[in-house]
Amino acid sequence: MTDRYSFLSILKEAFSGQKGWEPVWREPAPKRDYEVVIVGGGGHGLATAHYLAKEHGITDVAVVEKGYLGSGNVGRNTTIVRSNYLLDGNIPFYELSMKLWEGLEQDLNYNAMVSQRGVLNLFHSDAQRDAYARRGNAMRLNGVDAELLDQAAVKKMLPFLDYDNARFPIQGGLIQRRGGTVRHDAVAWGYARAADRRGVDLIQNCEVTGITVEGGRAIGVETTRGFIGAKKVALAAAGNSSRVAAMAGLRLPIESHVLQAFVSEGIKPFIDGVVTFGAGHFYISQSDKGGLVFGGDIDGYNSYAQRGNLPTIEDVCEGGMALMPRIGRVRLLRHWGGLMDMSMDGSPIIDRTPVDGLYLNAGWCYGGFKATPASGFCFAHLIARDEPHPDAAALRLDRFARGTLIDEKGVGAQPNLH
Ligand SMILES: Cc1cc2nc3c(=O)[nH]c(=O)nc-3n(C[C@H](O)[C@H](O)[C@H](O)COP(=O)(O)OP(=O)(O)OC[C@H]3O[C@@H](n4cnc5c(N)ncnc54)[C@H](O)[C@@H]3O)c2cc1C
Repeated sequence: MTDRYSFLSILKEAFSGQKGWEPVWREPAPKRDYEVVIVGGGGHGLATAHYLAKEHGITDVAVVEKGYLGSGNVGRNTTIVRSNYLLDGNIPFYELSMKLWEGLEQDLNYNAMVSQRGVLNLFHSDAQRDAYARRGNAMRLNGVDAELLDQAAVKKMLPFLDYDNARFPIQGGLIQRRGGTVRHDAVAWGYARAADRRGVDLIQNCEVTGITVEGGRAIGVETTRGFIGAKKVALAAAGNSSRVAAMAGLRLPIESHVLQAFVSEGIKPFIDGVVTFGAGHFYISQSDKGGLVFGGDIDGYNSYAQRGNLPTIEDVCEGGMALMPRIGRVRLLRHWGGLMDMSMDGSPIIDRTPVDGLYLNAGWCYGGFKATPASGFCFAHLIARDEPHPDAAALRLDRFARGTLIDEKGVGAQPNLH
């Protein structure tokens, strides 16, 4: 049997009829109880399981997923990773994630196509340049790479952008060269495989329908496959966080919104990295198959439906046309929606809850994919040791009551604007 991926194993299998590959993970029936039950088999739940096993030796763990692993946002996002944040509560956390991305494939023995192709945020006014310079300085003070480019430097990189657009003149951009893209499904599969190899049970098609609390303590979950007991219950349900937390009587400072993503037909390579339009909400990269992968704003109304609306598609395409008119005749191949757990300050929550033994990982808004490794790493630390990881110490649930918000955009309690 071949369970470790390597050049030699590929060679061996090529000469023996490809018969030795093992399934990537087992399909166990749920046990009666576990030390830790994680609700949600997305990127964050699977990463948490992996780091619980690897970093803390806790392998009596089940990840309970209502659909199939990776059927949520981890397989629906536009694959962008970066750590170009401004505020103290966020920068160390997202930079930890970036460092974990850099070693992820070796750690998981899985090709996640981590591609540090650069993320360029364009600015279109003097005020926006100043804001980006400030962000770049904050990043550099925290040891994160950042470079402010003028128009000539951007023009050299991306000569086809519309620089003469009278309404949105491109003045330059802030680039993080270590940012880039990662193949999203492979992240779910890689973490799942690594956790399974260490003994974690991955239980698919098993919806959590209730959280059992006795004497103020979570003691397990009701599921469509029966009750599963647990010493600790960890919620990592992303867009469904408020619904799942409500099962334990908690009302979260979170609204769920739809975000759409788009992929065009494959065309010859012309965009090397990730580019974002600063005068609207539009971001684009090109996949290894040649498809343009792009997106924009959330749809702007509360919903648990994983599909979006036509006005947002029009808005996103307008942003694309204002930035790079040359894509106007490219045909759209597919588009879809995912569910965003938008918090009141646009930053996530990794914390204990008022219910003993119940832990919360939520509020990822539309930027949680890049956080996957650090989120799992810090959530595992919290669950195992009952104390926050230093790099996630600011991501507390009670910050909304205490007024210690981490509001990157400074727009206040307006989840749809973050
Ligand atoms: C269109 C789009 C584009 C995006 N682009 C980016 C990007 O470029 N960069 C970036 O950093 N982020 C991006 N994001 C955000 C990112 O994808 C999410 O923040 C992140 O994936 C959320 O964490 P997760 O992977 O654990 O979520 P999910 O994969 O959604 O995992 C949660 C899981 O919980 C399961 N679940 C829910 N309720 C229950 C229940 N009752 N019982 C059992 N299981 C349950 C769900 O089925 C789901 O599988 C984007 C999102 C979308 C939709």
